[in-house]
Amino acid sequence: MNGTITFVGAGPGDPELITLKGARVLREADTVVYAGSLVNEKILELADHAEFHNSAKMALGEVLEILMRDYRAGKNVVRLHTGDPSVYGAVGEQFRELDRAGIPYTVIPGVSSVFAAAAALQTELTMPGISQTVILTRDEGRTPVPEKESLESLAAHGSTLCLFLSVSDMEKLCGKLLAAGRPPETAAAVVYRASWENEVIVRGTIGDIARKVAEAGIKRQSMIVIGDVLRKEGALSKLYDADFATGYRHHRFRGRVALFSLTRQAGLKAAEIAAGLADAVLFVPEKYAGDMPRLRTRTFPDGKFGDTLAENWHSFDAFIFVMAAGIVVRRLAELCKDKKTDPAAVVCDEKGSFAVSLLSGHLGGGNALARDVARISGGQAVITTASDVRDLPAFDVFAAEHHCRIETPESLTPVAAAVVDREPVSVEMSRRLFDAELARYSTVTLHKEREDGVILIRTGGHELRLRQPRFVLGIGCRKGVSADRIAEAVNGVLERFGFFPEDLTTIASAEVKKEESGLLEYAGKMNLPLEFYPADALNGAPVKNPSEAAWKNLGIRSVSEASALLAAGKNSRLYVEKQRCGDVTVAIAGGDVDEI
Ligand code: SAH
Repeated sequence: MNGTITFVGAGPGDPELITLKGARVLREADTVVYAGSLVNEKILELADHAEFHNSAKMALGEVLEILMRDYRAGKNVVRLHTGDPSVYGAVGEQFRELDRAGIPYTVIPGVSSVFAAAAALQTELTMPGISQTVILTRDEGRTPVPEKESLESLAAHGSTLCLFLSVSDMEKLCGKLLAAGRPPETAAAVVYRASWENEVIVRGTIGDIARKVAEAGIKRQSMIVIGDVLRKEGALSKLYDADFATGYRHHRFRGRVALFSLTRQAGLKAAEIAAGLADAVLFVPEKYAGDMPRLRTRTFPDGKFGDTLAENWHSFDAFIFVMAAGIVVRRLAELCKDKKTDPAAVVCDEKGSFAVSLLSGHLGGGNALARDVARISGGQAVITTASDVRDLPAFDVFAAEHHCRIETPESLTPVAAAVVDREPVSVEMSRRLFDAELARYSTVTLHKEREDGVILIRTGGHELRLRQPRFVLGIGCRKGVSADRIAEAVNGVLERFGFFPEDLTTIASAEVKKEESGLLEYAGKMNLPLEFYPADALNGAPVKNPSEAAWKNLGIRSVSEASALLAAGKNSRLYVEKQRCGDVTVAIAGGDVDEI
């Protein structure tokens, strides 16, 4: 008597996400051929008397041989696939061979990882008003994709995209999406091992998700979801409205962050937040180390949270605590000294609904960090400092964000007090900087435009004097690169290193790039002067990262670093070393204006 063959969808990982029917068939199975590492072994425990075969390393022929042999021996055979068998399950070829041999089989569906990812992201993939279509696809890998289904053409529809098997080269993938015309601010998310205990969610945009995924150390087993359906109504969109209404720009936190948690759930939330930050280390209790996916995880013994925090208090610029505020406040009380030196502290609940800026909100960047945390976790930032709440300028933050030296630190506090009292403020600075940062405040007027890097802020009989270096953007690029491509590369670097376009005074490059139309167009759009330097001048500059390719092709050791250093003046130094973004290299140097 012949047996049976049943193809079963095991679901995305969580053993409770198999169907009742699938579970019953597994319990009755004599033979189970399962698909490698994405089938949770806990599901195999359902099949208590079966013989198991892992198909991960088997060729199709071997799999079929087992299925047919045991079927003919009268056994109940289960072929167990991850998610649902019909998507990227390679079941088509198995069905075909069985049909050819005249062997019957049945198929039981499963919960695909695409739906487990949507559940993890708590999103509706078909959000009315945004997209009514979901495209399930993959980027081209070893398996070719038909040309008319290229990612560029599918992405151009603007529908929600869910990508399987594609996380290994996010940089390339996002490049294709941008090339298809999707705006860089389109929402994107990556869910690593959706529904497993070590699931990780990374949220971002097409513009930054590749970097965040790299920083989280994620290289496989992930679902990528692209589209503005990921932008939840409510807290997040209100934040955007406020941005538009007030012209408020999101100032990202820069610096080293330590995240502390005490439970597994909080640890996973901390890992999600850490993945969205530029430079973060996760501290978790020893016993949860195995559940944490990140490379940069450190552990501490049970009961040693306070000691570990104290030991690390001066090694980080900020701390995020995913735990009850009470525990944190008691610890901070022992550690904090004053607002000029204390690191920032943000407390977040384990669901990520609220991120409270507790300490060093202004100078330490705690408010910016709380907003970052809220943005990453889809929650709400809680901020209590007067200037933020009443939307007044904060010149200490302004100075830090624009890399200014504070020449009269004694006037910081009286100036801040006058600002909060709504005294009129008159300033001297560049028009660019004023327009970008201060023009929107009704109490602030531009008394005099100046381009020498000196910034004066006068209010309530006090004067605050700041000095900003002359920042130059050095650009190297391949022939024929478009202005948009350069803009994309530069914007990425500015954001990553905490610069704003208005901080820049000049663009510099090598003389051989004088006719490069993309570069000329970009400088024109940015309204910045261009300076070009000949090879011998460039070769004399003290660069950090000379390029062998440029030396071979152009006889120049460095374009971006060298030209930036030369244009920034004699006392210049590199603020951003050469960054390569595809065909474009970018560096930023700053020099003292007086020295030019
Ligand atoms: N049939 C499966 C897909 C198999 S192809 C399904 O329906 O889900 C394997 C790919 O599926 C992986 O590379 C990854 O992109 C995705 N995948 C499978 N399980 C996943 C999970 N738990 N979380 C995120 N992605 C998963």
